[in-house]
Parts: sequence; structure tokens; C-alpha cells
Amino acid sequence: MRDPALLAFKGSLSALVTGGLLLLAAAGLLESPAVQLRLASLLPGLTWVIIGAGVLLAWRFDRIRVIFALVVIALTAWGVAFFPAGAAERAGRGAIVWSTLVFLLPLDLAVFAWFTERGLLSRAGRLNATLIATELVAVLLLCADASGGPPRLLLRIEDYAHLALPALAVFAAAFVVTAARFALRRGAVDAGFVWAQVGAFLALRGGGSPLSTALYLAAAGLILVVSLIEESYALAYVDELTGLPGRRALNAALLKLGSRYTLAMVDIDHFKRLNDTHGHLVGDQVLRKVAAALARVTGGGHAFRYGGEEFAVIFPGCSVDETLPHLEGLRQSIEDSAFVVRAVDRPRRKPKKAIPARRTRKTFHITASVGAAAPNGRVATPNQVLEAADSALYRAKRAGRNRVAS
Ligand code: GH3
Ligand code: MG
Ligand code: MG
Repeated sequence: MRDPALLAFKGSLSALVTGGLLLLAAAGLLESPAVQLRLASLLPGLTWVIIGAGVLLAWRFDRIRVIFALVVIALTAWGVAFFPAGAAERAGRGAIVWSTLVFLLPLDLAVFAWFTERGLLSRAGRLNATLIATELVAVLLLCADASGGPPRLLLRIEDYAHLALPALAVFAAAFVVTAARFALRRGAVDAGFVWAQVGAFLALRGGGSPLSTALYLAAAGLILVVSLIEESYALAYVDELTGLPGRRALNAALLKLGSRYTLAMVDIDHFKRLNDTHGHLVGDQVLRKVAAALARVTGGGHAFRYGGEEFAVIFPGCSVDETLPHLEGLRQSIEDSAFVVRAVDRPRRKPKKAIPARRTRKTFHITASVGAAAPNGRVATPNQVLEAADSALYRAKRAGRNRVAS
């Protein structure tokens, strides 16, 4: 977990774990006949609570794609509960509803997984809402004319023990599309969509009882709701630019410290000048690179972005002297990293003959100053220690920068 790329993953990693656990729990619940009996009476109400609470939460957090997914899951749960896969229904409306939903649910989830949050009234928002409404009307129309059994174009479910090949192919394709979004963005909700897709498959794969269908659909909804909470947690605690835990996470960590620890403040030297010469984008790039060095600090230190170009490192259970070699190593690793920027006088048009990279690129190095402090008689609370570390940092600056002071 030391790599910032991994840290940025943190929200989605826990969403991946909880999503898998929720499906496992659902599978476990289905094993016990006693639990099944109780679930059968609880589940319908529970599903509506999950969907209702989820829609409210998603609305509040402005995550329209989760609302779309929950609505579609709710409609599916309603459809299959209304038309149970019983023998009498195999040729009639039940078969139509099943054979249609088996295609629609995975495809819809894949579409919503890729929805970019621009609001319900944006073009994409209206398009997706129309998609849901059209599908609902289409299924209802198909049901109204149920005399002929399932439409020939769709699979014909002779027996609910197996999914027909086209449906399996659609599930597989929808899963790949959903997983691709996760691989690309790595958001907690993206992870939720991947597991919701698995839940949808388990629910509609056939061969299961109506109870298992309802339970897996409820689980798919719950997974999305949980991933939403994971994402907002990550938003609050992880700094977006650097992927390091942010100020709020630092404050929480300070409250959990024992009596023995060392705090270090790290500040990039002449960062304002760097911003002024190379622009803020290069400045941001430097912040990310320094954060990567901080995330790899040795000696059991945990790095946080304090704010701007200042970082804090907590070493639990360490004296200042014990941390100094590690802080020195950190300072050195920042000094060693080189940055390459394109020269300002780079030609507008591509020259006929390539100019050697040496002349179009400029390399520069950056340094940082570090101040460290631990609690003693006078400075007792973490905030006082932080202040002491800050004073040490300013001593390091006054002494010429690019050094560690304590
Ligand atoms: P010193 O060596 O004394 O620390 O000098 P300094 O220029 O680093 O110190 P100062 O605190 O005056 O400047 C901090 C600058 O950091 C000011 C601001 O422009 C820049 N900064 C703060 N946050 C960000 C950010 O998120 N991105 C970028 N690119 N710049 C930032
Ligand atoms: Mg500063
Ligand atoms: Mg600075």
C-alpha cells in the first residue's frame, strides 16, 4: 500500500473486497434451509429498503449512474418476482420476462458503468433515462401479447436450468465492458459495477430458486450502495492530486497516536518559483512525484499531504533519532529525482530534421526541507508536536534548505 497508485486504488480495493464478500454471504445464506425460510418473508421488503436508501444516497452524492443501475435492478427484481419461473409460466409471460431481462440487465449495467456523471438532465442523462423507459415499455408490450411465447429472436428458455448461449455471450461481453471501465478509472463505484454484474449473472443464470434470484439481485443493489459509500469515504480522506491520504486522514491519525512517535513536516523548496517558471501543470507533476517518494518512506512512516506543497509523515513508536536516517533517505530520493520539461522555445511546427532531445528538453532537480519533532515535557499534544516539527522545518529552511532538522 506504499505506492500512491495503490493508495488511489484504496477505495476501490475495499469496494472490491466488500463486493465479493457480499456475494459470498448471499451464497452462504442460501445454504441454510432455516435461513431461506426467514429470507423469503424478509427479502421483498429488504430489497425495497436497499434500493430506496441507495437511490436517495446516490441522488445526494450526485451519482446518477448508480440511480439508473438501482432502478434497473429494482425493475428486474419486480419483473421476476411478478412472473416466477414456475412450470405454468414457462411458455407464457414468465418466459418472456425472463428471456428479455437476461439480456437487458447486463447490457444496461455495462452502459451505466460507462456513464460520465454530468447530471440527469445532461444529454447522456436523458438518453439513459429514455433507455430505461423504452425497455420497460418494450417488456410490457411483449407481455401484453404473450400468446406466442417468447419472441423468436430472443432465446427460448425450455428449462431454467441453463442459460442459452446468446445470453451467456451477452453476460460475458457486458462483464468485460464493465471490467474495462474499472481497469481504466479504478473508482470504488466502478468496482461496485463489476460485482453487480456478477450478482446479476448469479441471479439470472437460471437453475436457482426464485429466492436465490431475489437475493442476488438485492445483493447487487447493496454492492452498489456500499461502493458509493466507499467512494465518498475515499473522496474525503484521499488527496486527489497525489493519491496520498489528506489533511482529514492526518487529523484522524493524530488522534490515534500513542505516547511515543515522531512527526515530520516536509516542504518543497522554492516551489513558488518552480510554478512561476514552468507553470502549475509542471508544479502538479512535481507534487505527484514527491508524493510518490513520500509514500515509499522507510522506517514505518505514513505520509500525508498536509496542504499545498507541504507533507506530514508520522512514525509511530519511533524517537526522532530513529527516524533521522529514513528522513535523510527521503530527502535524498527527492533530490535524486529528475524532471524533464520541454523547452519554452520549442518550435511550433515539426522541424524537417529532428533536433536532438538535449536541445528541446530541460532537466531540473528539486529539493525539499524536513523538520522532525517528538513529544517531550513541554510539547505534549500531537498539535504541539506538529508545531515543533514546523519550527524545525523553518530552521532547515533558514540553514539553507535541502536538509533535515530536528
Ligand atoms: P520555500 O522554499 O521557502 O518553501 O519557498 P516556496 O516557494 O516553496 O514557499 P511558498 O509557501 O511561498 O510557496 C508555496 C507555493 O505552492 C505557492 C503555490 O503557488 C504553490 N502551490 C500550493 N498548492 C499547489 C498545488 O496544488 N499545485 C501547484 N502547482 N502549486 C501549488
Ligand atoms: Mg510552504
Ligand atoms: Mg515550499
